[in-house]
Amino acid sequence: MRAGFSGSNNEREETDKMAEIMYIVVPCYNEEEMLPITAKALMKKLSDLIEGGRISPKSKVMFVNDGSKDKTWEVITKLNELSSFFTGISLSRNKGHQNALLAGLMTAKDRADIIVSMDADLQDDIDAIDGFLDKRAEGCEIVYGVRSSREKDTAFKRNTAQLYYKILEKMGVEITYNHADYRLMSRRAVEALAQFREVNLFLRGLVPMVGFKSDTVTYVRNERVAGESKYPLKKMISFAVEGITSLSVKPIRFITALGFVVFFVSLVMLIYFLITWAVGNTVRGWASTITSVWAIGGLQLLAIGIIGEYIGKIYLETKARPKYIIDIDLEENEKE
Ligand code: UDP
Ligand code: MG
Repeated sequence: MRAGFSGSNNEREETDKMAEIMYIVVPCYNEEEMLPITAKALMKKLSDLIEGGRISPKSKVMFVNDGSKDKTWEVITKLNELSSFFTGISLSRNKGHQNALLAGLMTAKDRADIIVSMDADLQDDIDAIDGFLDKRAEGCEIVYGVRSSREKDTAFKRNTAQLYYKILEKMGVEITYNHADYRLMSRRAVEALAQFREVNLFLRGLVPMVGFKSDTVTYVRNERVAGESKYPLKKMISFAVEGITSLSVKPIRFITALGFVVFFVSLVMLIYFLITWAVGNTVRGWASTITSVWAIGGLQLLAIGIIGEYIGKIYLETKARPKYIIDIDLEENEKE
């Protein structure tokens, strides 16, 4: 900060100069019902923050249309016409939440100093952004939004999620407990994230690898106001598997260890059978034979399955296909 200023007017001028441009990136898939509500709330938030001199008046909300099948993109373009607070990009097709979010981050990083990512459904308390900015002022490059409680989620979602975080931790994945993709990142942090070339994306596991000074802000998670969850159980499970296999090789090591144990057990069994044979007992254990055949068979299938999962990942990574393709960029259009 420069010295020599005094008086509130000058101070205000100074904060104006220093205020950073903030983009709020919001991935949207079939959110036509939710968007008008979200847009209204975010617009209020942005104007309050700009009014308070906390962010630059050039700040915007960037909606990412993830190949929606409903009127989502129409709503976004209409919002863009109504107010310069709103901008948007549209992907060429549905690529999933993580890729849509990445597309938004990568586009916004060339226009903003700080980028907040959040879902379209207002489940994440937008007032936590104030806390994000406080941490940013303290010099943080990444601020994670952490849910203080999950009471509003269904008991099933809450329990499975909690178990999942525990498993991830055991697998050696560094992850912030109860943090979804609601966070603030500086341009520097997003540029660092851009260097991660992987196709299999699990952003909340990758962002901590970026490093830099970071902190957390806790908030209460709400219920979805309109529309329904775009994460049915099937998508949730594949997202969970993605999280583990894209960030940890422990499952493969586990298989190796299991292989050793099973092999050792079979040796012990062999010795035991040899002794009973020598003593002269006839073979009785048909049941145990069949059981072990099934047990080993099952283990082998499991092992092949897990290895296959990784080989599938390698296959996709070597292709290095683009993670998303932008069809329309409203801000690019404006410039022309
Ligand atoms: N989403 C997306 N692409 C998809 C699925 C979801 O961009 O293929 C967006 C969705 O519009 C929302 C966010 O990802 O903004 C989180 O989805 P949702 O709220 O349905 O998930 P939940 O909160 O139930 O886990
Ligand atoms: Mg949601």
